[in-house]
Amino acid sequence: MMMSPGPNGRAVSSPMTNIPTEPIGSIPRPLALVEAVAASDGTDPALATLYDEATRDTIARFEATGSPVITDGEQRKYHNFWTYCVHGLPNTAPDGFQIPFAAGHVRRMPRLTAGPFRYQTYADDYLDVALRYAHRPVKQAVISPSALSLMYPADPLPGYSREEFIDELLREHETEVRNCLTKGAWKVQIDFTEARFAVKVDPSGELLHRFIDLNNIAMSRFSTDERARIGIHTCPGADRDSTHSGDVDYAELLPSLFELIAGSFYVALAGEPDRVRVLKIIRDHLKPGQTVFVGVIDPIDPRIETPEDVRERVLEAAEYIPLEQLGTCDDCGFSPFADDTTTSRDTAFAKIRARVEGTRLASERIQGR
Ligand SMILES: [Zn+2]
Repeated sequence: MMMSPGPNGRAVSSPMTNIPTEPIGSIPRPLALVEAVAASDGTDPALATLYDEATRDTIARFEATGSPVITDGEQRKYHNFWTYCVHGLPNTAPDGFQIPFAAGHVRRMPRLTAGPFRYQTYADDYLDVALRYAHRPVKQAVISPSALSLMYPADPLPGYSREEFIDELLREHETEVRNCLTKGAWKVQIDFTEARFAVKVDPSGELLHRFIDLNNIAMSRFSTDERARIGIHTCPGADRDSTHSGDVDYAELLPSLFELIAGSFYVALAGEPDRVRVLKIIRDHLKPGQTVFVGVIDPIDPRIETPEDVRERVLEAAEYIPLEQLGTCDDCGFSPFADDTTTSRDTAFAKIRARVEGTRLASERIQGR
């Protein structure tokens, strides 16, 4: 028997071997919201009604897909999944760490100019709103400590050491995750998109290991039961239908990734050129007690997958991953940066519907074996 989310997020036992399926996070924002944000600042109080309407509509449409776990589509994460918590911090400058994408554009994070380090916004604020509208378990994504560690400049800040910064960063992250768990998030997903990018920046793997060590310090502050509700998302990026590290071999990343002491892993897979090779690496490095949710929907591919496409991808994964450790997800969010309008809301929800239906078809096929 497997446990699956029932009404109000409580786990219920099911006689079926249902393969769990979860989204990653973002859904393209309504164009009216994107335009209003572009015309002002994303934090303008006048936008409150638009944010609220977008969240309400997103949750209603998410639930209509049949997805057993939903998100708020990150409608309020302005500007993105990466810097939402530090947007507007006064002790920052705009010229921080850069991530270049294959399409030619660059995304940039703020640089810390002085201490102390405090979040401006905690993701559980978004969860409060989502839980008001949701009838199904809500997952909450948060940014990793390793991503935010990139805000500290290469040269030490006078009067604010890197060690003090890391202490404060870990405390802020822990507070955010703990609040989300306490408020009833089904899962808390730590977005770790910079993992694969780290291998691109530093092929020796040293930067990746620094990231993993830092994130494991954060994870170690939670109990085993809490860590079972914490997951890690890895992907090559999916902004404006483009990746930042799709050319980095997963073989350089995944063995180290599973060193993280998290309960769940959300691994982009649908967009990989050789999925079987990746599945074999996962099989060889996944640890007991860890569940891997493999991506069966590619948000970058404009074609809407059919449920049968998804079913075949799940059955393929089930050849390599023990069923009790296998779940499915989307490869990434559909719009990790709020101003990305390359995918429509209709397409995103149609793809999610295919994920849910295709995963169900695969579960049925496996039952019938
Ligand atoms: Zn992603």
